[in-house]
Amino acid sequence: MKRILVTGALGQIGSELVMVLRDVYGAENVLATDVRRGDREVMESGPFELLDVMDRKRMGELAENYKVDTIIHLAALLSATAEKDPLRAWNLNMGGLLNALEVARERNAQFFTPSSIGSFGPTTPKEQTPQVTIQRPTTMYGINKVAGELLCDYYYLKYGVDTRGLRFPGLISYKTSPGGGTTDYAVEIYEGAVRKGEYISYIAKGTFMDMMYMSDAIKAVITLMEADGKRLKHRNAYNVTAMSVDPESIAAEIRKWIPEFRLSYQVDPIRQAIAESWPNSMDVTAAMEEWGFKAEYDLSRMTEEMIKKLKEKFFSPMAK
Ligand code: NAD
Repeated sequence: MKRILVTGALGQIGSELVMVLRDVYGAENVLATDVRRGDREVMESGPFELLDVMDRKRMGELAENYKVDTIIHLAALLSATAEKDPLRAWNLNMGGLLNALEVARERNAQFFTPSSIGSFGPTTPKEQTPQVTIQRPTTMYGINKVAGELLCDYYYLKYGVDTRGLRFPGLISYKTSPGGGTTDYAVEIYEGAVRKGEYISYIAKGTFMDMMYMSDAIKAVITLMEADGKRLKHRNAYNVTAMSVDPESIAAEIRKWIPEFRLSYQVDPIRQAIAESWPNSMDVTAAMEEWGFKAEYDLSRMTEEMIKKLKEKFFSPMAK
């Protein structure tokens, strides 16, 4: 990766990934793009351009102007939002991906896009979900993610585009709020604990899903993109995760720092149904063996850092 274009760069992942990429590869070599303006740190610490990923012509022009050799495609509609507007999700998630892959093909650029635990469904084995297994999701988001994995395989096999991807679990971070996913509760629970000492969960007690701290997710993207391509047998996309948690297990960790924390439930049937169709825990052996994936943060270490960082964010406005 030398000259990188990031789409959807102001979202939960992009707003942190862009800053790390700029540290590693040089600020001027990382072009952040999004359909809107937002996070000033991302817009001002290096090049930023407005880009709607549905506009293939502009994407191609920007890639040419900035001499891009790597595309990191993040723009998408996430699971809960996609379920409210499935047609819009199909158009953006598939149309945007196809445009980004086409630009990568034209430029012979390396390509990364995330898949998700959402690419699995109710007939997938729930415990230690294998790398290669049944993928019959019942959500529009999941259908888009499976089709996306296959489309990336196709561009690799047919055109030789160096496509790579990860099946992310729910990502937990403090900088930018999540954008309408089913696992958002696992971020909101920390925000509620720090701000009000309480949280009402829309996901039911005992519903386990995979999660990972954002810094591990970012490290995984860079490690995979830098890995020797000859070793990648499952390039689109690798299971990665760090922990399998339910609301109660997060609450128990939070109470080690905020003993009075109260957790109650008001279950949202739509997001609960999505959660129940996803795995409880994924097997990450392929990622470990083929490119050395390793998560640094478990639930305990992540909880300590989330609470510290959110206290700084909410109560000392000058802190980052
Ligand atoms: P997000 O919703 O926080 O950010 C998405 C960004 O895309 C937003 O900044 C939005 O403005 C932008 N966008 C929307 N429509 C656009 C368009 N037409 N053109 C250009 N930009 C547009 O999402 P995120 O959490 O950063 O997720 C990024 C990717 O990672 C997605 O593919 C998502 O499915 C995947 N993923 C995320 C998680 C997670 O927990 N965050 C988990 C699994 C997979």
